[in-house]
Amino acid sequence: MAAAGLGRRAHGAEVRARREDLRSGAGAGLYDGRVFGLIRNRRRRKILATESIPDVHWDAALEAVPVLRMLDDGERARLRDLSLLLLREKRLEPAGGLALDESMRVRIAALACLPILELGLDCYDGFASVIVYPDEFVVPGREEVDEAGVVHVGDDVLSGESREFGPVILAWEDVEASGQGEGYNVVAHEFAHKLDLLDGAVNGLPPLHRDMRVSEWTDVFQAAYDELVEQLERGEEPWIDPYAAENPGEFFAVCTELFFDVPLDLQIAYPALYRQLAAYYRQDPAARVRRPRERRIS
Ligand code: ZN
Repeated sequence: MAAAGLGRRAHGAEVRARREDLRSGAGAGLYDGRVFGLIRNRRRRKILATESIPDVHWDAALEAVPVLRMLDDGERARLRDLSLLLLREKRLEPAGGLALDESMRVRIAALACLPILELGLDCYDGFASVIVYPDEFVVPGREEVDEAGVVHVGDDVLSGESREFGPVILAWEDVEASGQGEGYNVVAHEFAHKLDLLDGAVNGLPPLHRDMRVSEWTDVFQAAYDELVEQLERGEEPWIDPYAAENPGEFFAVCTELFFDVPLDLQIAYPALYRQLAAYYRQDPAARVRRPRERRIS
């Protein structure tokens, strides 16, 4: 099975980390941070107490995205709250002539919040805006260094991008293709890069929870990554999108797409990888797929 017909489109990520920049960005002292957190939590509680995403837009998002319909009632209510807060705290900006209406904003927010359903919105603190183009967009004059150290300058055509310290950029056409249960999810992909970046490097290793082991994560991901690279070297067509073989950061982002979009397939094909992702995201989307259908729909 092709993991993602559309997934072969290019994604981009700003890969190089600058730890010193991260430190200076966190320049506010611990005390300031706490006060800010209290103010923000109060503001969030107020928003949740006084506002809600209108049914018409929320229902439209669920209707359009099968993966979201898998959530149980409690998960869906939490996703709706998170989506509202994301819409209040981030700027969603249209670009390239796109008309971005409320229903589209809600759908983007819901897709963006699915990975952080159990992690919390603070994970997305590192950026302020999401830019949405109508379809694939061109990033001109990007420099790339090849294995021989030669710098190539060329235009990149992308369906999504996460800029370090900058916005998430999405193509609406690819947002529409995301979360359809077909293994493609550009929104989960780009926001996974943001989670990966939380420890300062897009390297396929986000900051793990205390009950997880870095060595286990690294062993499992490295083995699956090596297997993909070997399959490609043998000229085979792998189940995982070959784009994942670009680097470990892309591998984590592509596996995140599979985890939320075709969880059962991922669990069967890569059980250890699935377990690591389930422990990290604190979600078990394969269990959602297994749940009897009548219990999914409220
Ligand atoms: Zn990527």
